[in-house]
Amino acid sequence: MPIKMIQDTADQRVYMNVTANQCPGCPENLATRLVMHIVFDHLKDEDPIIFGQGCGIGRDFLQRSGLGTHDSGIVGMLTAMKVRNIDRPIVVIDGDGQIDLGLEDLATSFQQGYKYLHVVCDNQAHAASGSHATGSTPPMARTSVRPTGKLRHPKHFALMLMFSGAEYVATASTSHPQDLERKIKAASTRLPAFIQILTPCNPSWGYDDNKGIEVSRFAVESGIWPLYEWKDGVFQRQNIMRKSSVRDYVGSQRRFAHLGDEGIAQMEEYVNDLNRMMIKLETGFSA
Ligand code: SF4
Repeated sequence: MPIKMIQDTADQRVYMNVTANQCPGCPENLATRLVMHIVFDHLKDEDPIIFGQGCGIGRDFLQRSGLGTHDSGIVGMLTAMKVRNIDRPIVVIDGDGQIDLGLEDLATSFQQGYKYLHVVCDNQAHAASGSHATGSTPPMARTSVRPTGKLRHPKHFALMLMFSGAEYVATASTSHPQDLERKIKAASTRLPAFIQILTPCNPSWGYDDNKGIEVSRFAVESGIWPLYEWKDGVFQRQNIMRKSSVRDYVGSQRRFAHLGDEGIAQMEEYVNDLNRMMIKLETGFSA
C-alpha cells in the first residue's frame, strides 16, 4: 500500500505506514498518527517540519535520523533556519528513551525559545531493544532486566521541564484524545513546548493487543498517570473521575503479575503520594 511519508501538498493528510513492523494495536502508533493529524490541523499555515523516532514510530515513515530527534540537533537546525530567515516550527515525536539518553539536550533545548514542540510517546520501556526499564518505568513494574520489579520511583520528566524555559508542558494519554488535541493546540501557540503521552506497550507491559486504550484509561482514572498542564505560569490538573482503581490498573498487565496485596498497597501509597504532589503544585501555582 503506498503511504505518504509526509505531506507533499498543503491539502494532503498524513498517513501511518501500515507496512512497518509494529505490533498490532500499538498505542504508540495511534498516538503518533493523532499527533501528526492534530499538528497539521493546528500548525498547517506555518508548514511544520516533523521528525519521528522510536519503537513503532520511525521505522518507515517520517523524516528521521539521530540528529533529527536529538534536541541539540534540532536547536542547530532551528538556528540555521533563523540565520536563513526560515520561520517554520519543528515537531519531534520521540520515545521515552529520550528522557534518559537525551536528558541534557532535551532539558536545555528550550532555552533558545525557538518554535519547537517535543512530544514523547512514553511506553515506559526501551521497547525497541528488549524492554528494559527507562526513567519513566513505574515502581515495581517487572522489566526484562529486573524480573522482581523496578525499585525506584519514576522520573517525572514533564515536571522537571516546568522551569526549563518551555512555554508549555503537559501530560496526555492515548485514552483521552480530545484532551490531547486541546493540549497540542495550546502548545502550538506557546512554543517551545513539551507533551508526554502515555502509550502502553503490548509486549513490554503484557496485555492483549486490543487492550492498549483500556490500560491507558485505567492509568488515568486510577491516578497513576495524572493529566496536567503547565501553562502561562499556572499548573492545572485535569479533573478526571476516579472510575478505576490501582488494583484495576495493576491487574490489567503481566508486568505487575508478581504483586500480591502488599505490593498493590505500596502502589496505592505511591499514587497517594503522587496525588499529594499534584495538589501542592496546583495550590502553589494557581491562577
Ligand atoms: S514493542 Fe511496544 S511500542 Fe514497539 S511496536 Fe510493539 S507495542 Fe508498539
